[in-house]
Amino acid sequence: MSNALPTGSASLSGVGPFAVAGEWLKCALHTHSTVSDGTLPPDRLALTYSEAGFDVLAITDHWRIARADSTDRLLTIPAAELGFDLKYPNRERQSGEFLAYGINDLPEDPGGNRDNWMFNAEENWEARTFVDLAAGAKWAKDQGALIYVAHPYWNGLSVEELRESEGYVGLEVFNGSAEIETGRGDSSVWWDALLADGRTVFGIGTDDQHYPLFELGVAWTMVRAADRSVEAVLEALRQGHSYFSHGPSIHHIQANRDYVEVTCSPARSVVLHMEQEYGVSVTIGRNGRRMGRILETDSAGLITRVSLDCDHEAAQYRRVSVIDEFGAKAWSNPF
Ligand SMILES: [Zn+2]
Repeated sequence: MSNALPTGSASLSGVGPFAVAGEWLKCALHTHSTVSDGTLPPDRLALTYSEAGFDVLAITDHWRIARADSTDRLLTIPAAELGFDLKYPNRERQSGEFLAYGINDLPEDPGGNRDNWMFNAEENWEARTFVDLAAGAKWAKDQGALIYVAHPYWNGLSVEELRESEGYVGLEVFNGSAEIETGRGDSSVWWDALLADGRTVFGIGTDDQHYPLFELGVAWTMVRAADRSVEAVLEALRQGHSYFSHGPSIHHIQANRDYVEVTCSPARSVVLHMEQEYGVSVTIGRNGRRMGRILETDSAGLITRVSLDCDHEAAQYRRVSVIDEFGAKAWSNPF
């Protein structure tokens, strides 16, 4: 990640999704329908996301694959929300969850501890488990699918659980439903811990929609896909060719070893995150800090293009977040 750029190069080049050709697709990657504990049937859910301006929908019902046909406007990805037994549970019957994309079928018996399985007929959901996260990742990979670990903060996962597990592409770093309901939507701390270990772990943001009027569209993932196909979206998710948001847009990021330049929708603050205490930021307004240069602003003085100083040459990873005037955030993937 950090060694992707030639040492001493003065020229800037795009990073991650900003370095590849393709189209930006607005994706809802964690949603529920009446096939499990959601409110809308799959076809109505698809229509609603389409009308809300989304390009891609993954219905991730609990241990069921809901089917909704793709249309000219909305591509649907076969997906589900599945579970795994924990090495380090911190309460009785606690299990973890992951989001699987590109799956064809589900195992009747995924092999986990049945004491952790739950069936709730009234709320129409169920939970089964794989023996561990790696087993779930392997099962997905064997059928050409990929997984992201769901809501680590909300789930109360230990960082060790993720450190000691292989096979997952990334984390659901922001879960809108968890943020609205419990204030536990932002799992950036888990993400930074893994990135600081030198691992390549990507992030997604979702609304985890069950009740459309409450949650639909509160967060999303922008994927840069080679084309508008299931295969291209899966490949972009596998490569981390994406960013995610619950407000701002990131238009471009380019970098060399000395600085990182970000073009974005109007922002109050742009932060360059690195391991430990090495982050830098440029912020406007009262107590605004300028560890870099503002290159462009909008008519209200908000940042639309900024250069951030990066004097930590040995950065284990770098990632950017953009915060708008309301405090809403967009997260880049690590580069
Ligand atoms: Zn869910």
